[in-house]
Amino acid sequence: MKISTLYRSNDYHLFRDITDAVEKQIRAAMADNEIKAFFRADDIAVPSENFSKMMGLFLKYQIPLCLAVVPSWMTKKRWEATAEFREKGKALFCWHMHGYRHMNHEPKGKKQEFGPARSPQAVLNDLTRGQKRLQTIMGKDLTQVFTPPWNRCSMDAMMMLKKAGFTGISRSHGSLPVAPEGLEDIPVHVDLHTRKEKSAEESRPTLLEEFKTGLASGMCGIMLHHMCMNDQAFLLLEYLLELFSGYRQIKKVTYDYLISKNENQ
Ligand SMILES: [Zn+2]
Repeated sequence: MKISTLYRSNDYHLFRDITDAVEKQIRAAMADNEIKAFFRADDIAVPSENFSKMMGLFLKYQIPLCLAVVPSWMTKKRWEATAEFREKGKALFCWHMHGYRHMNHEPKGKKQEFGPARSPQAVLNDLTRGQKRLQTIMGKDLTQVFTPPWNRCSMDAMMMLKKAGFTGISRSHGSLPVAPEGLEDIPVHVDLHTRKEKSAEESRPTLLEEFKTGLASGMCGIMLHHMCMNDQAFLLLEYLLELFSGYRQIKKVTYDYLISKNENQ
């Protein structure tokens, strides 16, 4: 996976610029709304320098992070390697399931692990296998929210998620089909690292547009891919975390908060 062109720019003012523009959007959105925000990091399981660096930043700014764990990549040993962060972060970190093997099963079109090419039974088998594996390794630390690889899945898959006991799903903002009742839709709006524009000049306005949409929705979801982050990507992430931590009026949440709030209603 390649990092976005945004982080291959030599313009070091760019990241300060983007952060200032996001701050203006925060102020505008706060005028009419209470704002909530969450950060979600995908493709979690394998320890790495980037993983530790990312976790360190969320701890430094005391901002919650939802971590999307790939079941077939996770092992007891790898889980144990996250212990120091879990001990320091406690409720800051919310661990949930990201696909089963993170494998494409669609013969054509966009990549999906749980797309229309698969039978509901095959989907259910993978989901319950993944869920059992993570429950065995992670125990009560597993939250029953699902992030499908590539942010998309079929209606059958969402029905099977419900059957397997999941209560929420996180895809891209505007994803179809609409999530069925009983499966809370918790979309991400902002793609920090895997956006596809050809240049930083093209990336900047579309990235800001995503922040605007997210902040205006009242629940801004921000997606990270730590594995492909470079120094510039860590710089922008740190600016953003510093910005968000400075606004107490923005409630920084995890799926645990969103799901339990739902249950209490
Ligand atoms: Zn992924």
